[in-house]
Amino acid sequence: MRLVLLGPPGVGKGTQASNIVKKYNIPHISTGDIFRANIKEGTKLGITAKGYMDKGLLVPDDLVVSIVNDRLAKDDCADGFLLDGYPRTVDQAEALDKELNEKGIKLDKVVYIDADKDILIERAIGRRICKQCGATYHVTNNPPKVEGVCDLDGGDLYQRDDDTVETVTTRIQVYLDQTQPLIDYYRKKGLLLDVDGTKPIEEVFSIIANSID
Ligand code: ADP
Ligand code: AMP
Ligand code: ZN
Repeated sequence: MRLVLLGPPGVGKGTQASNIVKKYNIPHISTGDIFRANIKEGTKLGITAKGYMDKGLLVPDDLVVSIVNDRLAKDDCADGFLLDGYPRTVDQAEALDKELNEKGIKLDKVVYIDADKDILIERAIGRRICKQCGATYHVTNNPPKVEGVCDLDGGDLYQRDDDTVETVTTRIQVYLDQTQPLIDYYRKKGLLLDVDGTKPIEEVFSIIANSID
């Protein structure tokens, strides 16, 4: 299964991604997670990416494309993968098409999850992430059993630097300007699955899983 998860910031892509990759046993490739891991390690890539991420802007296409292409070349992607947060521009989508064409493979589906702006802001502001395993919680919608502590491994939960009202608002605008054109791009190819992201987490997942199966 070769999948792309498309949708605005905070809609629930990462949350659905962790369920999808478990069910279909495919690697989860999140460009945001790759950048955050590089920031944590203090790599050159991380330092460059942080400058854009803190402002809510996209990291330049050439950087993102080469990272994803390197990742797709790994053995574990041979039978499938889930791209989460990539592509985010038409140039990235074209670069992905080119890369997949060269490999003689095709995407099976582009899962497009959507919700209104007020929901996106509320979800992003309340998002909390485990420092150890990256599991995602929400202070009210999906809280951990003990406040500030991961259910899975007891790790501390943190809030992303870019999950402030101001930066989330910029990220939503960047999405509308640069990423939204991909909805038509993939709809025209007959790949798009429209999913109502306002529903509860489990319901969104069953809509996606039923359509993929
Ligand atoms: P994205 O990867 O699209 O930015 P996340 O998966 O990190 O979004 O979700 C953003 C926040 O919204 C998280 O705190 C998550 O727990 C919460 N969330 C995700 N999906 C839902 C949902 N269907 N209903 C309510 N809250 C959700
Ligand atoms: P995310 O974790 O998907 O919310 O992404 C966090 C931030 O990482 C974004 O606001 C961008 O700055 C950067 N980023 C992630 N994926 C991409 C991408 N495909 N293209 C450009 N920038 C990206
Ligand atoms: Zn954890």
